[in-house]
Amino acid sequence: MGTDRRACLALDEIDELAWVRDEFELPPGLIYLDGNSLGPLPRRVRRRVEQVVTEEWGQGLIRSWNDAEWFDAPMRVGRKMAPLIGAKPHEVVVVDSTSLNLFKVVAAAARLTPGRPVILSETGNFPTDLYIADGVAELYGREVRVVESTAVVDSLDSDVGVVMLTHVDYRTGAYHDIDRVTAAIHDAGALAVWDLAHTAGAMPVDLGAAGADFAVGCGYKYLCGGPGAPSFLYVAERWHDRAAQPITGWHGHARPFEFTRHYEPAAGVERFRIGTPALLSLLAFEAALELFEEVDMADLRAKSMQLTQLFADLVAERLPGSGLELASPADPADRGGQVSFRHPDAYPLVQALIARGVVGDFRAPDIARFGMAPLHLRYVDMWDAVEHLVAVVDGEEWRRPEFSQRGTVT
Ligand SMILES: *Cc1c(COP(=O)(O)O)cnc(C)c1O
Repeated sequence: MGTDRRACLALDEIDELAWVRDEFELPPGLIYLDGNSLGPLPRRVRRRVEQVVTEEWGQGLIRSWNDAEWFDAPMRVGRKMAPLIGAKPHEVVVVDSTSLNLFKVVAAAARLTPGRPVILSETGNFPTDLYIADGVAELYGREVRVVESTAVVDSLDSDVGVVMLTHVDYRTGAYHDIDRVTAAIHDAGALAVWDLAHTAGAMPVDLGAAGADFAVGCGYKYLCGGPGAPSFLYVAERWHDRAAQPITGWHGHARPFEFTRHYEPAAGVERFRIGTPALLSLLAFEAALELFEEVDMADLRAKSMQLTQLFADLVAERLPGSGLELASPADPADRGGQVSFRHPDAYPLVQALIARGVVGDFRAPDIARFGMAPLHLRYVDMWDAVEHLVAVVDGEEWRRPEFSQRGTVT
């Protein structure tokens, strides 16, 4: 193939998204291939958080609920989130965590499908998604059925009420055809709940066109909302009058400040709120979303595919016989914003890379995962990262005992 470092630098020269890198604060010298787990810090988020703390909290105090429009923030941030997932502005609210939002929407979907006892999901789904489905099933007398992701459509029958899937697989990056699968779910008489944790901010998705019923996703991954950023929750307009969620808190009430004795749900997706939101995190996330307003998702997706392909090609070319086996679909158009490899020693390999300033991540049991968030990464980063990987593998650096010690978070 003959790609070399200069060719990568030349690609950066003509990259129309190159300017966006300067919008981030990045540790010098670090190659950060983990923006799919925790996105880097946009400069405007630091500025906004400083302003919120100093002015809105420090000076405004309680008055900021009105003066700084804190109460409407979950819906306002939802309106900013909507275009990234093909939603209408009033179909999204940003609040609480992904796990909690999953609980709310899976429960709401179960309540809309009485007489259909099965919640169907996939074996490879992210653990919290399945744990939450188990919890909903126990509360509502349902059962969770899990099948291989390729077998979901064939497993639909008249017992299935809710299908809960993660659009982009967190290990491999393979993704479902959301239009086709949602249509099959509806043909079977069930409702579709999509988890967009590894989709939003990495690739375009159109929930409206797909006809999705409910969706959730993370604010702190590709969307760069900051550690613990709140999650987004989508409810298709056609369910707004009928969807009911089980955590009936006062911020989801139709008139919270009348302090009446009985709960009456707010109109639309706002009823999926619970209580006082984590405002510092929410307003940080809002600032990060403003960066996405300046970027065209089609350009972002095109660069993302080029980055994962360049990285995979360089690994194949420079590390033949290393035991690193591509775990992602071979065609970049068939995977999300990451590229993953299987290796029996994936854990120490990733640790040795981190020690060299190349941060990827490990996912049990044997996956080394590299997230190619295109807003802050350069083509030359792909070259340099693979250069380090060659040193780690050929020099057997990963065999050093300290690289096999596991921290609490892997
Ligand atoms: C990251 C991720 C989550 C995380 O849920 P939290 O409640 O934010 O911890 C959930 N589901 C999927 C598919 C994820 O990738």
